[in-house]
Amino acid sequence: MSDVKRILEVAQAAGRQAAALCRAVHATTPESMDKSDKSPVTIADYGSQALILRALGAAFPMHGVISEEGSEHLRASAGEEGAARIVGLVNDVISDDPADSAEAGSATPADFDQVCAWIDHAGAADAEFTWAIDPIDGTKGFLRRQQYAIAIGLLRDGVPFAGVMVCPNLPVDLARPDGQLGVMYVAAMGLGTSRIPLDGGTVGPAITSEGIDPGKWRVLGSVESAHGDPKLVVRMMEEAGILGGFVRYDSQVKYGIIAEGAAEIYLRPRSRPDYRENIWDHVAGVIVAQEAGGKVTDMDGKPLDFTLGSKLLENRGVLATAGGAVHDTVVNGIAEAEANLTAG
Ligand code: AMP
Ligand code: MG
Repeated sequence: MSDVKRILEVAQAAGRQAAALCRAVHATTPESMDKSDKSPVTIADYGSQALILRALGAAFPMHGVISEEGSEHLRASAGEEGAARIVGLVNDVISDDPADSAEAGSATPADFDQVCAWIDHAGAADAEFTWAIDPIDGTKGFLRRQQYAIAIGLLRDGVPFAGVMVCPNLPVDLARPDGQLGVMYVAAMGLGTSRIPLDGGTVGPAITSEGIDPGKWRVLGSVESAHGDPKLVVRMMEEAGILGGFVRYDSQVKYGIIAEGAAEIYLRPRSRPDYRENIWDHVAGVIVAQEAGGKVTDMDGKPLDFTLGSKLLENRGVLATAGGAVHDTVVNGIAEAEANLTAG
């Protein structure tokens, strides 16, 4: 099997296990256990990361890992009951998965220390390949039972190379929100993006909608308005004559929406001057959008620099679009909007 094929197979299997755990938590009432920065985290965030890094660590011990969660806060806040719960969730998913690879299975059933060790797996430093993992992107959406993404991205020498993004609550047919839910986007450099219904159905390529009439371009935004700069986005739309309106989703699901041609523009300005984006909020989504025909840079049209650790330190916001022509229009619209807003 080729390296990239194996990478995608292992990541998809891990993403499916993580989705099973998130859905099991949704079957009960998920509770937030806020971190010191007040961002919400749930037992599902930790369980999902444990399953993903268990699989990646076993299959690719020479790869590096940069991930959102660490076990320290879990150990401090879970208590005996929480520890037992996460161990139960993780072991249930592993034992329920007939395809679970024995190579990932060290001592099973796992105990709490083993689960924490999986969560903290960081792999090799300075590796050619580094995974960027967000076990639940959009935890606020997850808590609202709306959209969230399990983001498994892979950098090769600092460039997005492959990605699996699982969206367990996304309608398979976006026009039928009450229909089947669960979509997985799978992409790798040069191989395009596939859109896979999580629980069976027709697999097809995801392709952006660059060709549609500019007047109809739709703009993606967060559900949480504090995560962006709505005033700037509205002004950009006015300057650039973009009339398709807003589409709102939590999490990097937005990159999947661009990839499948259900919106054309995802503009994410800095929410405050000192905010820097986390790489795990972008790597998987970026390759999914790019391989579907999209273009991703920062707001100034500058390439995203994923070589600076866990954050995009040198980029101003993020801009993902359906393709080059849309992109140029939006970059110009942002520059005009900023100049006019500054001029008052
Ligand atoms: P979204 O659903 O697009 O708003 O994205 C969710 C992500 O926003 C989370 O994964 C956080 O990493 C990120 N986030 C949290 N706080 C902020 C903030 N103040 N500005 C921008 N992004 C944020
Ligand atoms: Mg996130």
